[in-house]
Amino acid sequence: MLRIPGPTPCPEEVLQAMTRQMINHRGVEFEALLRSATARLKEFFQTKGDVLILTASGTGGMEAAIVNTLSPGDKVLAVINGVFGERFADIAEAYGAEVERLAFPWGQPGDPDAIRRALDSDRSIKAVLVTHNETSTGVTSDLAAISAVVKQYDKLLLVDAISSLGCIDLQTDAWQCDVVVTGSQKGWMIPPGLAFISVSPKAWDAHARARIPRFYWDFAQAKKFLERGQTPWTPAVSILYALAVALELMAGEGLANIFARHARIGQRTRDEIKALGLPLFAAEKYASNTITAVKAPDGLDAKRLLTILREEHDVILAGGQRGLAGKIFRIGHLGWVTESDIDAVIERLRTALPKAGFATA
Ligand SMILES: *Cc1c(COP(=O)(O)O)cnc(C)c1O
Repeated sequence: MLRIPGPTPCPEEVLQAMTRQMINHRGVEFEALLRSATARLKEFFQTKGDVLILTASGTGGMEAAIVNTLSPGDKVLAVINGVFGERFADIAEAYGAEVERLAFPWGQPGDPDAIRRALDSDRSIKAVLVTHNETSTGVTSDLAAISAVVKQYDKLLLVDAISSLGCIDLQTDAWQCDVVVTGSQKGWMIPPGLAFISVSPKAWDAHARARIPRFYWDFAQAKKFLERGQTPWTPAVSILYALAVALELMAGEGLANIFARHARIGQRTRDEIKALGLPLFAAEKYASNTITAVKAPDGLDAKRLLTILREEHDVILAGGQRGLAGKIFRIGHLGWVTESDIDAVIERLRTALPKAGFATA
């Protein structure tokens, strides 16, 4: 049982789709595949704007968001409440942006009021970087509220929604998100290899003026080729086969039902973890419906717990990253996941916990 926040398990029909022979990526069959996947993705992004499919992991999508909208020396406000918020800031800095880091305690969300104060005190900020769902801590920030502030100041809003899009409601157009990035191996029930990214009209304006060098990631190239049903560079064709099948499954379930399933499963995971006597790491009001971070109480050896689960119970969970190593463990519940999957993890946790030094409630 693989229950990490990506790669996530894939349904059998998705795996089967990838055994198909290659096709010409400049041919009509590929064109149909790309057009229909793009149209479906727009529904999941809840946007009428552009959605581009890049051959990349999520981080490539984050880099694309930066290089297509910013110039060296641009001031950027990075909202940071975990590892992935730091990564977004680091990428912007690597390309020469002047990054102001607005940090929040890990386990807490980004605070719209603090963002308002930061934007108010420095009118030269051009863009705001936000992590919708901070996978390292299991926290979902209130993106609608953050966006309302960012748009009051008319700034560009770049969103890492890598572990939330397609699982948790994110209204790209209604919330005026300029660039939104997600990755195939998270909520989309397919393997790693593709990033999906939306580009608003305001982001296109920024693109026209942005001076960070770009080539592979250039949105204009992606859009130009998409208009003729192609990608500029050879895409991960097999993952696109998988995507077509997964999007069909997701369309069958429906957006609202997918969100409701993740909400139900997230709540169930938290309830069952608490019933075992374990504390949650995230502020509960902002606890993520795609990933649950569990604090290791005194006596519990979190690393040993993960080893016991893997070796004796065939359950793979994620540990803590950076400063959280050994202090938390994380259960992924995004994409192809049901209540009974979570119940099975909890049952095995109940058995493994005493061996790792924790007497369950
Ligand atoms: C997984 C993840 C990333 C990184 O994606 P890769 O596909 O590993 O490059 C970035 N941000 C968030 C929130 C993630 O969950």
